[in-house]
Amino acid sequence: MNDTIFGKIINKEIPAEIVYEDDISIAFKDVNPQAPIHILIIPKKLIDMPQNITDEDDNLVGHLFSVASKIAKKLNITNGYRLVMNNGQDAGQSVLHVHLHMLAGRKLTWPPG
Ligand code: 5GP
Repeated sequence: MNDTIFGKIINKEIPAEIVYEDDISIAFKDVNPQAPIHILIIPKKLIDMPQNITDEDDNLVGHLFSVASKIAKKLNITNGYRLVMNNGQDAGQSVLHVHLHMLAGRKLTWPPG
């Protein structure tokens, strides 16, 4: 059972601009982009929060990073990008399905707000 908005995107019950998909992950454009390129890379398996990632998810979570690398090549992102995973209220996590934000296309400030 995965009834978050991302579960619906995985199940193609609601549309998304998908940029990459394989058996265990899917990546799509963020509906409210914070940079010219803002992609969400998610596992198809439901893990609600990064704090609930366990040893058994090591390969799965590592895979999200290699997908980011593939997407960077596919979209010809040569000037850098930022990968961010928000956990919980203070970090601003709003969807309870683990997701890696990929931000690119502009100079990103540090520290983040
Ligand atoms: P969080 O705030 O949980 O780290 O990130 C959730 C992200 O999901 C936000 O950047 C938000 O814009 C994005 N988002 C929320 N609902 C949808 C949706 O229905 N479609 C897409 N493509 N992105 C969404």
